[in-house]
Amino acid sequence: MAERQKTIKQAVSVSGTGLHTGQHGSITFHPASENHGIKFRRIDKKGQPVIDAHVKNVLSTERGTTLGVNGTHIYTIEHVLAALTGLGIDNVLIDIDMEEMPIMDGSSRFFVEAIEKAGVQSQQAEKKVLVITEKVEFEIPEKKIRVTIEPAEKLRFSVEIDYETKVLGKQLATLDDITDFKHEIAPCRTFVFLHELEFLLNNNLVKGGDINNAIVFVNKLVSQEELDRLAKLFNKPSVKVKEIGILNNIDLRFKNEPARHKLLDLIGDLTLLGMNIQGHVKAERPGHYTNTEFAKLLHQKFLS
Ligand SMILES: [Zn+2]
Repeated sequence: MAERQKTIKQAVSVSGTGLHTGQHGSITFHPASENHGIKFRRIDKKGQPVIDAHVKNVLSTERGTTLGVNGTHIYTIEHVLAALTGLGIDNVLIDIDMEEMPIMDGSSRFFVEAIEKAGVQSQQAEKKVLVITEKVEFEIPEKKIRVTIEPAEKLRFSVEIDYETKVLGKQLATLDDITDFKHEIAPCRTFVFLHELEFLLNNNLVKGGDINNAIVFVNKLVSQEELDRLAKLFNKPSVKVKEIGILNNIDLRFKNEPARHKLLDLIGDLTLLGMNIQGHVKAERPGHYTNTEFAKLLHQKFLS
């Protein structure tokens, strides 16, 4: 029997801070009717504009996926979308009173917990599923980026990352069943390299961070002076580099947490297709640009 669409049983809210804007606010997930899909509503703006979680509305993919329509935008939607797809939710309206989804701990964990607290509700209509019948490929050879999808019995993901740094190495992450998302993928946090973080901090591009929401990889020698300066920026008495080459602001939840987080982002971004997918997605060095371009390609090939 075909699977049924799902929504949530009751409204539920999550409050937090946006990573890039530093704004503090709340999002509220509301139940929605069959075939409604996933939509965002900016309740802080006049007329409360609604933006569909659809690839046609992607405005930017720099440091996160941003949707925008008619001058209204919402930053960093990917971790919320991953949580919804990971729990099989098809229909929901998400109210937000700021420009950016809260970053929480940098993973999807808090959104998953909120949705589970609200409860999942089965609906009558069948789930809309795009069944992949032929291999589709997207490649940027000069950046060693590749995403493919192949026919499969169900939705599966394989992600490989290799940035040619010793500290991160080559990592693989797989998800063979979306019902494992909650435990295997949802808690995995985003990561940055120290040199990128310094750039972002120096250019005031990270405002919502005490940086307990990112794994920081250190791939060069850092002086104590530099670490003291970072500690100040992080609002911590001190920071150290651990033996494995990460800052001691957090402990890893999985050895391959970075690759798992890339898988999380991929699930979130592919949610913008507006349909469930049946196929095996394989990605090498994926990012938001690649993920959303791939979603556009699938949309163009199979849905338009
Ligand atoms: Zn992410």
